[in-house]
Amino acid sequence: MIVAIDDFNGGAMENKGLNIFNSRLIMADPTIATDADYRSIESVVAHEYFHNWTGNRVTLRDWFQLSLKEGLTVFRDQEFSADVGDRGLQRIEDVDSLRSRQFSEDAGPNAHPVRPESCLSVDNFYTATIYEKGAELIRMMQILTGRLGFRKGMDNYFNKFDGQAVTTDDFAQAISEVNGLDFSQFKLWYQQFGTPKIEVLDEYDSTREEYRLTLKQSIPKTEKQPEPRPFHIPVLLGLLDRQGKEITLPADEVSFNTDQEAVLHLKRMEETFVFKNQKAKPIPSLFREFSAPVEVLWEAPLEDLLVLMQKDRDGFNRREMAQQIYLRVLNDLMRGASKVPASLLKVLKEVLQDQKIDAGFKAALMTWPSDAMILQTLKTLDVSALRLAREGFQTQVAVACESQLRALYLDLHKEPFLTEISTRAFGVRNLKARVLAILQSLPESDGNGDSSGVLALIETQYYQSKI
Ligand SMILES: [Zn+2]
Repeated sequence: MIVAIDDFNGGAMENKGLNIFNSRLIMADPTIATDADYRSIESVVAHEYFHNWTGNRVTLRDWFQLSLKEGLTVFRDQEFSADVGDRGLQRIEDVDSLRSRQFSEDAGPNAHPVRPESCLSVDNFYTATIYEKGAELIRMMQILTGRLGFRKGMDNYFNKFDGQAVTTDDFAQAISEVNGLDFSQFKLWYQQFGTPKIEVLDEYDSTREEYRLTLKQSIPKTEKQPEPRPFHIPVLLGLLDRQGKEITLPADEVSFNTDQEAVLHLKRMEETFVFKNQKAKPIPSLFREFSAPVEVLWEAPLEDLLVLMQKDRDGFNRREMAQQIYLRVLNDLMRGASKVPASLLKVLKEVLQDQKIDAGFKAALMTWPSDAMILQTLKTLDVSALRLAREGFQTQVAVACESQLRALYLDLHKEPFLTEISTRAFGVRNLKARVLAILQSLPESDGNGDSSGVLALIETQYYQSKI
């Protein structure tokens, strides 16, 4: 009961009697399909299959509840891809997509809540906000309750509502009631729109051995939303010492969910959290796993960001800190700085040589912020300055890390499983491409000559694209 269509104005549809797929999202030609094609097929087939419960057996009371099925089912397909692939990388990709598609929607004239109050046409509802931000709302519920608690809530939801047409309120109630939580403030996430900004300020009092962390939320005010109320924001956090070791947090200072992960509940516009008995100023790892769809404004010292990039146990934040560092350095280069900091180049060499970091994650750590992401940090755009900064940055990395990059490339080329369709092979192929992209910035591997031999490596790689 599946039909595949070449000309279909969408991805797929979960109709109970006849599933409709865009053919590129259900069939792959092994001679031309890329790794990304295989992964899209896996996730879209999973998504439509999961709709059997979240959408079909339990369906929507009215169209304004669209995120009840789409947000929840996107969340489920993201979790499926994380289980069968690489959890950390999956989260990184999902957040990148949210930021580039949904954050811009939430900041523009089409901003709307995850559960809208009105619409001109139901077709207008199939948005990044309903789908992807909707999935983030479900994920925040999982962070507040922990995986065990969330599973209990999902079982409760299906037991109560199988065969019925219900609302996002019913879902939130099903999750909260079995966990003894009050979601009344949390549900504002369904009503208010806009990406909240979170300003992070911290101070250390050495005589009292106290670390004070202040978080301030601000929510865009518009004509449609003149007096926004504070969100209930879950902040997954850890504190690290200067060596990057996790500091144990006592239960009277933070809450723990059923996964025993530490969570701060930011419920007011501004709150200060106090951590006692700190012998030195700790380094905070905030919003681990991107625990809320917010924009974090944090002027941390570069050394602290480098410790987090190397040592944090949360993979999402390691890569996030790397991106923040690159953004900062690229901005400095655009404003006339000439050198990439030596401390960063030293860390990059260590990352390239680190055998404990798997290939896919290493590629993510060695990927610079996209132009779109850099543009979001700029007030005015100077295209040539941006281009020069990117080129200068990559050339300095290539020159400083040349021997590590070459050694890594040769090492990866010996991998026995290179032609497989597997998470490991996806990661190796991706990292090889990254390494070559950086090496081709070596000054002597330009169009006029190839004294470094990098262009020859790229040509060979191209003709052996399967490996
Ligand atoms: Zn769907």
